[in-house]
Amino acid sequence: MIPIIRTIAELKRHIALISGGLAFVPTMGALHEGHLSLLRYANAHYPHTLLSIFVNPTQFGKNEDFDKYPRDLESDVALVAGSGIQLSGVFAPDIQSMYPYEQVPLVSFPFLSNKLCGKSRPGHFDGVSIVLLKLLNLIRPKALVMGQKDYQQTVIVRRLIEEFFIETELVVSPTVREPSGLAMSSRNQYLSTEERSLASELYACLQNLASRLEVGMKYEFIQKLCSEHAKSLSDKGIKMDYLEVLQAQDLEPFQELKSGMQYVVAIAAFVGNTRLIDNILKKL
Ligand code: AMP
Repeated sequence: MIPIIRTIAELKRHIALISGGLAFVPTMGALHEGHLSLLRYANAHYPHTLLSIFVNPTQFGKNEDFDKYPRDLESDVALVAGSGIQLSGVFAPDIQSMYPYEQVPLVSFPFLSNKLCGKSRPGHFDGVSIVLLKLLNLIRPKALVMGQKDYQQTVIVRRLIEEFFIETELVVSPTVREPSGLAMSSRNQYLSTEERSLASELYACLQNLASRLEVGMKYEFIQKLCSEHAKSLSDKGIKMDYLEVLQAQDLEPFQELKSGMQYVVAIAAFVGNTRLIDNILKKL
């Protein structure tokens, strides 16, 4: 039986009993193969793995899906138990435990969150930052394992770890995809069968765009390429939020593509009412 840890006091007792390295995998539940891949990485590289399942209210906007976000702790735990992954425990706190005061402090990296997803989800990354600062302070893991799927999140969390001198190594694990190429996501549950097949166009578009990138290309030219690719998705009925190529390290634009540099090709779009994101890293 995997221990379910509900309170901060229980978590502290649990952590105190663990000796050797602990890898921590924070999630919002509705687990799928993407989440399991992070847990498998943790299991393979660290003596102990702790999973958290917490639908963090502060990272949802007013008109977002906090209320309807899928929650089923029992089936999440059963999925992990059936996968052969070994967990020291699952931390599944209630909101009151994580946010004891009604007013929540602001931890913000505006220079990293004022772009890509941050533009259409104001406050989202502040919510991610505060919850992770709390969790990392409590757990003090040797490694924090996160998915490349949420690429902007990994850049912000890397900076959070550095700025607050947290003794944790951030591991970014590759995106797990459906056979169609669609990045696995808890929100894929919202898609109808037709929407699901349309959604696989996002990854095809990223691959196509990434294959066009060459050393020396100017930013303005790449913006045009992005617009053309975005238009072909819009023509198929996908509602675009953004399609951009930025420097992977700091999410900044650039003058021209340089050899030896890594870039992120990132997309967010609505398929039906469901907002999906994906990205590819391209090293030139
Ligand atoms: P979430 O539960 O959506 O907040 O995600 C929890 C963690 O799982 C984050 O680090 C995500 O980046 C990661 N994750 C979500 N989907 C995938 C995927 N398809 N492949 C790899 N990691 C993922």
